[in-house]
Amino acid sequence: MNARTGTDRFDADVAVIGLGAVGANAAWRIAVRGLSVLGFEQFEPGHAWGGSTGKTRLFRVACLEHPGLTPIARRARELWRELEASAGERLFLETGGIMIGPPDSHLIAGTLAAAAEHDLPVERLDADGIALRSPANARLDPGDVGVWDPEAGILFPEAAIIAAADAARAAGADLHTGVRVVSVDPDADGVTVRTERSDYRVRRVAVTAGPWIGRFLPDLPLTPHRVVMTWFRPREGHAAALDTLPVFIRSVPGHDTWIWGHGAIPASAVTEAGAGTPGFDAKVGPEFDGPFPGDDPDAIDRVVHPGETDGIRDLVAATFPDLEPEPSAATTCIMAHTPDGQFLIGPTADPRVFVGGGCSGHSFKHASALGELVAQSVLGEQPFTDASFLDPRRFAS
Ligand SMILES: Cc1cc2nc3c(=O)[nH]c(=O)nc-3n(C[C@H](O)[C@H](O)[C@H](O)COP(=O)(O)OP(=O)(O)OC[C@H]3O[C@@H](n4cnc5c(N)ncnc54)[C@H](O)[C@@H]3O)c2cc1C
Repeated sequence: MNARTGTDRFDADVAVIGLGAVGANAAWRIAVRGLSVLGFEQFEPGHAWGGSTGKTRLFRVACLEHPGLTPIARRARELWRELEASAGERLFLETGGIMIGPPDSHLIAGTLAAAAEHDLPVERLDADGIALRSPANARLDPGDVGVWDPEAGILFPEAAIIAAADAARAAGADLHTGVRVVSVDPDADGVTVRTERSDYRVRRVAVTAGPWIGRFLPDLPLTPHRVVMTWFRPREGHAAALDTLPVFIRSVPGHDTWIWGHGAIPASAVTEAGAGTPGFDAKVGPEFDGPFPGDDPDAIDRVVHPGETDGIRDLVAATFPDLEPEPSAATTCIMAHTPDGQFLIGPTADPRVFVGGGCSGHSFKHASALGELVAQSVLGEQPFTDASFLDPRRFAS
């Protein structure tokens, strides 16, 4: 019985809970398949309170995290381009990207493994090659090598999520924003989705609530935690824009850790992205390698306190002579980690409940294709690639 209408009618085939990076794309990819979709977002698409805020995200095809991610990144790029065309604004800037570190590090070996498995056109670089490709990265440890991934680039996350939500609406999805889902209750016939305002009856549900997934699926091992993002200005008379400092992940000279980021982005690129600000400074972040104590996503401290950015300041000072080491800006964001660092995409123990999330710090680039995989899972279609390593049921035991 439909709790809202008092009839046996379903309100929709599928409800999508959370319209962030994965959810907005899942709503789009389900709707284009002809199913009726109800989407719920507690804030507005492109908001600053989840896992997808911060102006930019790195895109790579040679995915050191798992070779199985390369086909997902490639499908994601096709879908980001499709969204760009429908939105009429730039969502993805292909810059090429450089990985730098010791040859036996996971950073270099993992990137080369993905490249070898998928025959990617990466280029191995010695110190001279690194200096040519990226002069701002000239400070190296002895023995460091580089890998150039020509397909790497930068995504504009807020604009990309808004574009996906708009595409979902255009495909017929009924999106409710500023509406918080309170519970998701599956039974033998369907699922009741309760919001603060109404109840809805649907046949299946996709939980894409990012750092909040544990509210609905507490058995999944996902640990949200607060992180700080930082931007850095080029020093007076120095250039550290994308041409000298493209997308990078690199070891820090004299330290046993990585940093990641990109150079300053010119106003022209940002204006095209529709972000409405006069360009961005360079962005540099630390490797987030845990342990993660876990934070309540509803109680994140949004203030960046004095001293919190000292660690990244010292890493920038050790690496980039062209950047002022004191951050020009800092803000908070939420990461959500799984134990194996891979995402949660697909079915759960309940046949009517599916999940899309498990960020682990690297899912934005894939989010459009992860939305597609969620859609394929909900519909029981053959996935476009083998995504069994992302199956949430791998944690069932
Ligand atoms: C600092 C940082 C840097 C990163 N860098 C990169 C990078 O360079 N490249 C990369 O590929 N990835 C990167 N990532 C990872 C990537 O940004 C995230 O994995 C991804 O954005 C998470 O998307 P999501 O859809 O899972 O979550 P979100 O985008 O947070 O979406 C979840 C949505 O669900 C909504 N929601 C939650 N609960 C409810 C409810 N009860 N009712 C209604 N709505 C609800 C939320 O409001 C939110 O909009 C980074 C992450 C961080 C934190």
